[in-house]
Amino acid sequence: MFVVFRKKSVIICLILVLAVILSCVMLSYASAEVSSVPKIGKTVVIDAGHGGVDGGVSGVNTGVKESEINLAIAKSLRHFLVRNGYDVVMTRENNDGLYGLSTKNKKLRDMEARRDIISDAQPDLVVSVHQNFYPLSSVRGAQVFYSADSEESKAIAESVQGTLNSALEGDRVAKTGDYYILNCTEYPSVLVECGFLSNPEEEKLLVTAVYQEKVAYTLFSAIHSLLGGQSEHIHS
Ligand SMILES: [Zn+2]
Repeated sequence: MFVVFRKKSVIICLILVLAVILSCVMLSYASAEVSSVPKIGKTVVIDAGHGGVDGGVSGVNTGVKESEINLAIAKSLRHFLVRNGYDVVMTRENNDGLYGLSTKNKKLRDMEARRDIISDAQPDLVVSVHQNFYPLSSVRGAQVFYSADSEESKAIAESVQGTLNSALEGDRVAKTGDYYILNCTEYPSVLVECGFLSNPEEEKLLVTAVYQEKVAYTLFSAIHSLLGGQSEHIHS
């Protein structure tokens, strides 16, 4: 009995030791992957629009919340940017709003929190991710907005709009938009309405991980061609 018990103990110990060794090896691989990406020296703030009590607009057929699609695209965009050496700051990383516990002026406090995150990050670019809605269900396509006060943001918005038009077969023109997120700091900023949740076909695409990733990769490639110089091999 005693011998059997000891054998069992030895086997359990061996399994534990193996598990520890295996996790050490996996951890070192993971950190090697991250540290092997050379830093590009550029910071991008990704702002997933809405969150918490503010779900944004809703899908015409599925009722999906804009805030959730925004977050999924924002996270995918972060993945592509980080894999290619960018520093990324997210205004939110889950479905909560940024307004804290007080019940007053939630929207204002949410937006001010986003402004503070942008100011602290001192980014080269701010990309605010949203989805659109229009009473006429045939209206579709990605739409980029910029502040009328920033020539730099205008040039960036036009470039991003062009890349989105090519990849997602759209024909829109970047527009000025009087949005808080575009005006709250001096950093170059664009707001991207990735598609219309009022258009049934576009809604059907926007709820899928594959299309969300396609939109995110398109945004990444637009950003990379603006901030990444002549570089380099792209890591997907
Ligand atoms: Zn929105």
